Amino acid sequence: MDVLPSCPNLRFAPSPNGLLHLGHAYSAWKTFTLSKALSGRFLLRIEDIDVARSRDEFITAIYEDLAWLGISWPEPVLLQSSRFSAYGQAFEKLDQLGVLYPCFATRSEIAKAVEGADAARDPDGALIYPGLYRDFPRQDAQKLKREGRAFALRIDMQKALELVESRWGTDALSFIEQDEGGQQRVVAVDPMRWGDAIIMRKDVPASYHLAVVVDDAFQGISYVTRGRDLFAATDIHRLLQVLLGLPAPIYHHHRLVEDKDGLKLSKSEGALSLRGLREAGWRAREILARLENLG
Ligand code: GLU
Repeated sequence: MDVLPSCPNLRFAPSPNGLLHLGHAYSAWKTFTLSKALSGRFLLRIEDIDVARSRDEFITAIYEDLAWLGISWPEPVLLQSSRFSAYGQAFEKLDQLGVLYPCFATRSEIAKAVEGADAARDPDGALIYPGLYRDFPRQDAQKLKREGRAFALRIDMQKALELVESRWGTDALSFIEQDEGGQQRVVAVDPMRWGDAIIMRKDVPASYHLAVVVDDAFQGISYVTRGRDLFAATDIHRLLQVLLGLPAPIYHHHRLVEDKDGLKLSKSEGALSLRGLREAGWRAREILARLENLG
């Protein structure tokens, strides 16, 4: 079993495409108090690769809301929008391993190819990509690229898993999950259930999965705390860490704050953002006391 290093780095990594809500407050506070308990560092990372949806005013609001909760972090904050060249290097490395392919398919082409009630779905409920362009000849792909056709990069999951098995062994595809009480267990991942996931989006030269593993390694994050909604995504993160030769953090996927928890704090649903609660007269310590009661 891995043990946590004596001074671990932890992080809170919000996406600035809206105001922080109670779920974010729970995650940030949990990560902050854990970093204190472990004599570690709490780092803030702004996940703003989605340039169309990210807004500066939401970044400012993140700083304000966290400070209001009594959370502090070392400067400078890492902005993912400043990291596209690092992601580019990671694509090159994966490309050299021969596990990526360009996919020119449009949303409607994909939907048409998977039409039918029994189409398989990934853990997020999205239809599994049917493999269009997986075996598309390289020179034809070059031609489409030259013509300026937009493309995403997908991972050939079957091929990537075969490579991992032959080079690193299947045991590499696991991670350590630490529960609330500090108990650790080894979780074997199953990236195949995601199909040929997108590693570089059509609209931005990055993807959540790639950016998160590259930056967790860059920031020396040894302990990832985040919500259970991202538990299954760790399949892809471990696969990418193995392929890119990046270290495996220990993970803690915490419970999610559900609407009913939020409603206990606020009578009207519209006020569930931290800013809304603050404006409605809530004090930070009252919010934190209630979040702490959730465990
Ligand atoms: N940026 C992601 C979000 O806001 C979190 C990423 C992570 O913690 O791995 O949901």
